[in-house]
Formats: sequence, structure tokens, C-alpha cells
Amino acid sequence: MLERMRNIGIMAHIDAGKTTTTERILYYTGKSHRIGEVDDGEAIMDWMEQEQERGITIQSAATTTYWKDHQINIIDTPGHVDFTAEVERSLRVLDGAICIFCAVSGVEPQTETVWHQADRYRVPRIGYINKMDRMGADFFQVLEDIKVKLGAQAVPIQLPIGRESAFEGVIDLLEMREIRWDASTDGETVLYSPLSQGNLEIAQAWREKLIDALSEHSEAITDLYLNGEEIPFSLIKKELRKAVIHDKFVPLLCGASRRNMGVQPLIDAVVDFLPAPDEVGPAVGHHLKKEEEVQVPCDPKGTPLGLVFKIQYDREAGSLCYVRMYSGSFKPGTVVFNVGKKKRERANRILRMHSNKSEPMDELSAGDIGVIIGMKEAQTGDTIGSEGWPVVLEKMHFPEPVISVA
Ligand code: GDP
Repeated sequence: MLERMRNIGIMAHIDAGKTTTTERILYYTGKSHRIGEVDDGEAIMDWMEQEQERGITIQSAATTTYWKDHQINIIDTPGHVDFTAEVERSLRVLDGAICIFCAVSGVEPQTETVWHQADRYRVPRIGYINKMDRMGADFFQVLEDIKVKLGAQAVPIQLPIGRESAFEGVIDLLEMREIRWDASTDGETVLYSPLSQGNLEIAQAWREKLIDALSEHSEAITDLYLNGEEIPFSLIKKELRKAVIHDKFVPLLCGASRRNMGVQPLIDAVVDFLPAPDEVGPAVGHHLKKEEEVQVPCDPKGTPLGLVFKIQYDREAGSLCYVRMYSGSFKPGTVVFNVGKKKRERANRILRMHSNKSEPMDELSAGDIGVIIGMKEAQTGDTIGSEGWPVVLEKMHFPEPVISVA
């Protein structure tokens, strides 16, 4: 199951369209996989509107949704630099991210800050240039901006067809086809068609650039390229996935989320190119007794170890502790050990949070994210595990000793 799991965040400068894109992702994924009483995709949006009206925070710290047989956990990544510690903690628990850019404003200062934070945590990324329908939208200018200001190896895997009010779809450079959205279904129906004569040349030129850039990371592609042989779509996809996960290669897509254009191929790209929890290398912990670093591979059968990355309060349930598990598993009703505080606590219930409801989990195991209810002492940043293995995932910060000078 791990290979079909994605823990992702959505990063963006304020106003680039993070909320709109996230809502659309939840809408389409909710529609493709009906959860509980949600029998119509509309319900998710309705629910969000209701919650907004009532002034309740709609966004849980992590929301699970499903797309094409994959489980996607979307971890809320605060959009504001004032919450740097929170941003860093969320970057720590996610395995990959979508970075949204505005097609008009390009790379803005806040995007730069979050981008460099994500670099530090080696978070694999895909880029999404939103608002292609807005006046002044310029895909290629944003591409330049990403290369120059962020120093990223960003390469389009889509090109826009038209822009501003004439934005009507994208060229898919991997499968060499055109993708459009049917206006009569408000963009919901995705229409695929072969490349038109007019788009063939530009598509070939940019596909060549993509292959050229990929060949830096892939011997298999270099060999075929040098021999002048046809490079199969499946190989490009496989090698692109590896380059994104291991070599900071950033594939670029585009769309106009508000008009439902581009969102479904974006979710496909999350599944296709962002890593599963066991593809990103082990987590690093700190052994409190041995005072040394330990590597914690993502192994559901290992000794339990998880990080409390966010706590929300619920009037009825009390503390909702959002936990990312890195090793082993916890079951509801069992004792968990707060390693730093040396306290035993009971995990009364474990829940999976969806956009509009929660459901009980039988087990929270390595790679996954869930909410534990019942822990009273846990705080954000605490590691929970088992008594025999004193490993913390975040070192505790003790205040500087106060030295008084006479
Ligand atoms: P956030 O601050 O990043 O969460 O941005 P929002 O999702 O709240 O969007 C900011 C504004 O941009 C809102 O008025 C949206 O309706 C608008 N917006 C979002 N996506 C698009 C788009 O694709 N095209 C256009 N024209 N406007 C958009």
C-alpha cells in the first residue's frame, strides 16, 4: 500500500490560488472516490461554504483524499512567512509538494522563502503556473523567473494553448496530445485530442528540451538519444519520476484553477511524479541515551515512532494530535510513549480526517498520517514511540541559560 500513498503539501505565495486549487483538488478527488455520505462531489464544496459561513476553520492540518487508487494526504502548509516554524514542521512531514505560481506575478518574495526552506528539507516538487486566464499571464516569463530567481531546474511538461481569455487548454509534452476542458460541463470533462498541425512544431521543440534536460539524469535516455532512437513515453515518465524525487528536477504544468482548467492533470502528476513515503530515504532521529543520530527507515513492521506535527482542539474530543508515523504502527486503545516527556499516554481513538468528515482507523502505520485522540500531555514537535527506544525526531530546544554578571 505504501507505493500508493502520497504525503503532499501545497506551497504558494498568498493570492496565487492555493485555496482555489486545493478546493478543486478535493472536489475532483471527492467525486472520484465517494466517502461515506458524500454522494455528490458538490457536497464537499457546500460543506466548505457552510463551514466558512459559520466561521469555523475548515482546514484540518491534514486531509486524506483518493485519486486513481492512490491515497493522497494533503498536509496544510501555512502560506505566511510569519509562521516559519510551522512551515518548517509541515515541510518535515510531507514527502513532496506542489508549488503554485501566479502566471501574472511569477516568483514573489514569499515563494522564494518557502522554496528555499523546501530545498533544505529536500522536498521534491512539481510546479503549477495558475491563473493562465488572467490578463498579463505569461507562462514563459514565469518559467524564466523560476530558473533565475529560484535557481531551479524547471522544465515544462505542458505548454499552454492560448492565454488570458483565450487560454483553452494545454499541450501534454509527455503523451504528445492536447488537453482541453469542456465549457459545457464547467470544465469538468477533460477532452484529449491529437496534436494539431499548428501545435506540432512547438511541442516537438519543447519535448526535445525536456528529453535533453532529463538525459543529464538518465543514462537510459542518453543512450537512446545519442543513437537517435525513439524514446518511449513510459521510459520518459519513469526517468522523470526518478529525477524529480532524487535530483531536484521540477516538472512544470499550468492551468486556471478557478475555471477548473488544469487541475485534474495536476492530480495525475502528484501520483505520477511525487514520491511514496518509502521512496524518500529514512527519517533522521536523535538517540537520547547514545547521543547520536539514528536513521529510521519507513517500515510498518519496525519499532513505532511518530511525530506530533500539529494539535487542534475540538470542544467534544479534546486535543486532536496530528501524527506522521515514520516506523511501526499504533492501534487505538493502546499505550504510546511520549519520548521527550517520558510519559505514557493512551491513544484512545485514531482517526483519518477527510475534507468533510473523519473516520476511525484500525491502525496508524509507517508512512501514514492520522489523528490520535486521548493524549493530554503531547505538544507540537513531540515524538511518540515506545519506552525501550529513546529516539526523538525533533531535538528539543532548551532555553539558553541565563548568566548573571555581578
Ligand atoms: P490563496 O491566497 O493562494 O489561497 O489564493 P486564492 O485561492 O484565495 O485565490 C486568490 C484570488 O485569485 C481569488 O479571488 C481567486 O478567485 C482568484 N483565482 C484563483 N485561481 C484563479 C485562476 O485560475 N484564474 C483567475 N482569474 N483567478 C483565480
